[in-house]
Amino acid sequence: MDGLNKLAADNSRRLNFLEEIIEADLASGKVQGIKTRFPPEPNGYLHLGHAKSICLNFGLAMKYGGTTNLRYDDTNPSKEDTEYVDSIKEDIRWLGFKWDKELYASDYFEQLYEWAEELIKRGLAYVDDQTQEQIRENRGTVERPGVNSPWRDRPAEENLRLFREMRDGKYADGEKVLRAKIDMAHPNMLFRDPLLYRIKHATHHRTGDRWCIYPMYDFTHGQSDSIEKITHSICTLEFDVHRPLYDWFIETLGIFPSHQYEFARLNLTYTLMSKRKLLELVEKGIVNGWDDPRMPTLCGVRRRGYTPEALKMFCEKIGVSKRDQLMDIRLLEWCVRQDLNARSNRYMVVQDPVRVTIDNWEPGRVEWFDCPLNPAEPDGPSRRVPFTGELYIDRADFMEEAPKKFFRLRPGGEVRLKYTYIIKCGGVEKDAGGKVVRLHCTYDRDTRPGGEGAWRSVKGTIHWVSAEHAAEVEIRNYDLLFTQADMGAIPEGRDYKEFLNPDSLTVAVGYAEPALPADESGVAVQFERTGYYFKDPDSTPEHVVFNRTVTLKDSYKPE
Ligand code: ATP
Ligand code: MG
Repeated sequence: MDGLNKLAADNSRRLNFLEEIIEADLASGKVQGIKTRFPPEPNGYLHLGHAKSICLNFGLAMKYGGTTNLRYDDTNPSKEDTEYVDSIKEDIRWLGFKWDKELYASDYFEQLYEWAEELIKRGLAYVDDQTQEQIRENRGTVERPGVNSPWRDRPAEENLRLFREMRDGKYADGEKVLRAKIDMAHPNMLFRDPLLYRIKHATHHRTGDRWCIYPMYDFTHGQSDSIEKITHSICTLEFDVHRPLYDWFIETLGIFPSHQYEFARLNLTYTLMSKRKLLELVEKGIVNGWDDPRMPTLCGVRRRGYTPEALKMFCEKIGVSKRDQLMDIRLLEWCVRQDLNARSNRYMVVQDPVRVTIDNWEPGRVEWFDCPLNPAEPDGPSRRVPFTGELYIDRADFMEEAPKKFFRLRPGGEVRLKYTYIIKCGGVEKDAGGKVVRLHCTYDRDTRPGGEGAWRSVKGTIHWVSAEHAAEVEIRNYDLLFTQADMGAIPEGRDYKEFLNPDSLTVAVGYAEPALPADESGVAVQFERTGYYFKDPDSTPEHVVFNRTVTLKDSYKPE
């Protein structure tokens, strides 16, 4: 108790409802320690919603000195694959969590089968020959009770024989099912003789062709939790109607009393979070695979440059609730900026160049500047940046007819080139179409930072690169994949694919200071004044590609 009180007191924020439950259970002695599990179905890649579930399950266990199992919920052989099994492990490791045991619901097929026979012998389960449609029809509705199956009162021995024949492969898919015998008039529809087993002649990614009957979710999940002695089985809200059935199987079988608790799933604005639909985007080629940086998958956001730290910060900030919520994706982006701002290396990159000629620069002269990789550590590691008489600046940093508040470059105006001199714009060269192609400037040699001249400041500072030293890199500027904020509110009859953002990817050439391509920090870098960018694994030494992680500025501020 003492230790727990201390834990609670140390907590700077209020406990969430799951922490309250766990602390009460520990205090009352209902449980001695806690054990959680993360139960993905290996039928797709993990997404940001799963990250929330992972942070919760692993985070709670860590906080209360318990452990977390990774358990694959692999009872549907036709959709599951080892590719997904492997990616799930990689993603959890990347988030920085360690599971206690790696387990599979399919490890329990034999035990589950024995429990099914036990229910049959006790008169609590029967083999039903009705078709799927008949079963659905006879289940009734919320207002109308169901109709008993004509096979409901088969004697136990017959059920046992038929169930064994089902296992032995005597019947085709759908020919028979095993159902629990509970109550066809139960107010909870799930209690109207729920299906326990169905026949499926399919090769399973782990058990191969050993089984042709597979247990249903409700007959698997609670018992799997119980076998592993999971104390707090945490899942999303839509499972709350399943909880009584979860308890029913555990109580009826008299096995370890795991308990289920539900929290609100994570929904994000402009984001789709359903494996089925994400799979469709991949299969239809709408995105370039599961790890396309526009995907909300963990491998996608990783490729985009999001960090585990940012995701965890986000999960901590949104907390846990019992009401479904639509979170603002800008909060997630804010967390990404927070994390990257503290530790990313800075480089200057020009994406839409205008040439600047420094007319009073001695031809051929190169001056190297030592610039800190992170401004928070002015004396920390640095990169060397060459300054010459031929530079590029961003087109957006020059304006011929500039409004008063425009503090960047204009004819006759001054601006500081970051880390270096103040320059003054003397003349503008244009092509036949009137497009600015070159600015003629002069530099003020007395304005070198740390130099001998008296310090003088100007309002604007812009980034630049030396034209002859510029490294060309490919830049993939990513934006939101969808145009609709609440993807859960798409009107009836419309397809989510109608809401794809046509500008979710634009590709540009970037002219970078020469140190950029060699950056091996493994973390997204900051293109100064522009955004954070992450080196794409498609990069080769000759062709370096950067993905925009997130833009630098946004007016958004979390509450
Ligand atoms: P999807 O609907 O995307 O297919 P799922 O729920 O079928 O997801 P599972 O592999 O069954 O995917 O999920 C593993 C765990 O992650 C479950 O406990 C599930 O409740 C949780 N989870 C899935 N999606 C979310 C989400 N958006 N927010 C929080 N937890 C989630
Ligand atoms: Mg699921």
